[in-house]
Amino acid sequence: MRGKNATERIAPDEAGIASACAILADGGLVAVPTETVYGLAARADSAEAVARIYAAKGRPSFNPLIVHVADAEHAARLTRFDPRARLLAEQFWPGPLTLVLPRSEGAELAEAVTAGLETLAIRVPAHPVMQQILHASGLPLAAPSANRSEAISPTTPDHVLETLDDRIDAVIDAGPSERGVESTIVALRDSGGWGMLRLGPIDRDEITSLLGPEEAKSGDRIEGPGQLGRHYAPGKPMRLNVLKAEPDEFLIGYGPVAGDISLSPTGDVNEAASRLYACLHTAARAGHPRIAVAPVPLAGVGAALNDRLRRAAS
Ligand code: AMP
Ligand code: MG
Repeated sequence: MRGKNATERIAPDEAGIASACAILADGGLVAVPTETVYGLAARADSAEAVARIYAAKGRPSFNPLIVHVADAEHAARLTRFDPRARLLAEQFWPGPLTLVLPRSEGAELAEAVTAGLETLAIRVPAHPVMQQILHASGLPLAAPSANRSEAISPTTPDHVLETLDDRIDAVIDAGPSERGVESTIVALRDSGGWGMLRLGPIDRDEITSLLGPEEAKSGDRIEGPGQLGRHYAPGKPMRLNVLKAEPDEFLIGYGPVAGDISLSPTGDVNEAASRLYACLHTAARAGHPRIAVAPVPLAGVGAALNDRLRRAAS
């Protein structure tokens, strides 16, 4: 059993990784670096450990978690891993793509991980530190973003501590996340069709080129709460596609729009994605009562970036 203690900052070296693995094996919570955002990891095969994630985040229990594993072989033991899954895994794993697949019967996972669904969201992350933790521990790790529910996703250890200090056992300090937006989520349905559940670093065209066109959605059933509008909120009114800010607005710039801070002065959409949440954190802390954001193009990860901005503004 883990007690309530100050959150420890751990270096991403051999000793740090060993100590993170020990905390995780013991059922504790460690914020871990991934290439998308920092995740709040716990062993996914322990009901007590998974319950701690929901408690630390204040996350509603109907919102299922993504399970992270070391490789596709581990994923294939936990899910029905069909040829489409193999194809996507070969192309994009390790990397920022989450697959939603039918959960294997007898998969040793806490019920709360899937929030009662018969499907499991799973991915093999690319970050070298996370890879080492997954290989060294051999555990499946449930890891939602390492922030209190409804707060902005963390892309640095400081962001993690802003909302989770003293609520989790440790954070691994491995610098800023490279991609900066949460993984793309693709559901592979029994019907043979597929659906994009969340936009992310892997764009729709990359999936379409391998699987053919996305299946039209039957009805309006929500397959994952990540599809709900509310999320990633900075807690202030926010206006998008702004070229010139009002005096009471903190302007997040892009390219030629300089702003009070810029997503990317050179207009590089990948840089903008990696800096998105840091800019939102800064804007949220600024004295201005409102936030404005310059136009950001829709190409590549720009689609996911605009999606997160719309949610933050809604
Ligand atoms: P987070 O880990 O905070 O980035 O959020 C995880 C996202 O994955 C949420 O949007 C969940 O709704 C989604 N998710 C997790 N498991 C499933 C599943 N079995 N089916 C559909 N979506 C899922
Ligand atoms: Mg989140």
